[in-house]
Amino acid sequence: METHPLCVVTGGAGFIGSHLCDVLLSAGHEVIAVDNLITGRKDNLAQALKHPHFKLIVHDVTVPFESGIAGQYSNPSYIFHLASPASVVDYQKYPEETALVNSVGTRNLLQLSKQTGAKFLFASTSEVYGDPKEHPQKETYWGNVNPVGPRACYDESKRFGEMMTMVYKRRDELDLRIIRIFNTYGSRMRPDDGRVISNFINQALKREPITVYGDGTQTRSFCYVSDLVDGIVRAMFTEGTNGEVINLGNPEEYRMIDLAKKIKDMTGTTSKIVCKELPLDDPQERQPDITKAKTLLGWEPKVTVSEGLSKTIVYYRSL
Ligand code: NAD
Ligand code: UDP
Repeated sequence: METHPLCVVTGGAGFIGSHLCDVLLSAGHEVIAVDNLITGRKDNLAQALKHPHFKLIVHDVTVPFESGIAGQYSNPSYIFHLASPASVVDYQKYPEETALVNSVGTRNLLQLSKQTGAKFLFASTSEVYGDPKEHPQKETYWGNVNPVGPRACYDESKRFGEMMTMVYKRRDELDLRIIRIFNTYGSRMRPDDGRVISNFINQALKREPITVYGDGTQTRSFCYVSDLVDGIVRAMFTEGTNGEVINLGNPEEYRMIDLAKKIKDMTGTTSKIVCKELPLDDPQERQPDITKAKTLLGWEPKVTVSEGLSKTIVYYRSL
């Protein structure tokens, strides 16, 4: 009889997690998404929910699994731990929930991995580098994070999650890896999630002012979601990734003022570009060094920012 290795995707109803579920299903896996829908939406799983090898379990992963829910995903082969509010607006609205899902939640999933022998992947973030003093950022850089600032609920809990993951690596010899995701965008980002690309495109489409924070000289590097998901899959399934920390992102770097102008041009909007106050601790620059992902995974992004923005504009127009 044909077997379908079971993948558990926490945060599977979110932006990235739902795309990951679709790709894993297409590759022939059985997939269980575990999500408490705090920032995700069941709608993101419309396609997956039609698939016979897919199930959504609405569950908060900070709640221990002994409560019976674990029985429903009793023998996973792979655990992708993506659950966490991720946009600045979301994690500042839910600071304690964010801190807990990346700490207690990560520990619960590591326990499940230990009990079942499932391979584990922790979705960390470029935010562990904080406001970086090294540019571009390599995996060896330890970061520059404010532990008591408004972003700390996210940054520090991801750092804690990374630490806990490595405890289980060293002590229990689990088969696991950590990916550090840099700014990712594409369809299924909520229009109101506050991220820069969702804000700029939706403001442009509604002919409202495009809000650049600060003077717009700060930079980010933007990865289209299909490239990112390809990198996540490779990080889990490629030989030689056990115990590794891997940056995943697109090195194509923009100043926010230039991104605003680009989106204004691409949408043909009459919106004006306006400057607003820069949020506290907003990193000044960010760009991944992806040498390790290229070497280890044979991965690099294929979708240019121009192509990805076009697709994302089409998506938001269709809503
Ligand atoms: P998202 O908010 O769209 O998805 C996160 C999902 O996790 C949501 O569906 C949410 O309901 C779920 N969730 C949160 N807490 C939970 C809990 N306690 N139990 C169960 N489910 C819970 O965000 P995203 O952009 O898809 O991010 C996915 C992952 O990737 C996150 O771990 C995030 O930190 C990481 N990441 C994303 C980016 C990016 O640019 N999108 C960058 C760096 C890291
Ligand atoms: N930003 C902006 N206008 C907005 C939203 C965000 O200029 O309407 C800036 C924000 O200050 C930051 C960058 O865009 O410098 C990326 O912000 P986002 O929240 O998308 O991601 P993160 O800060 O987590 O990288």
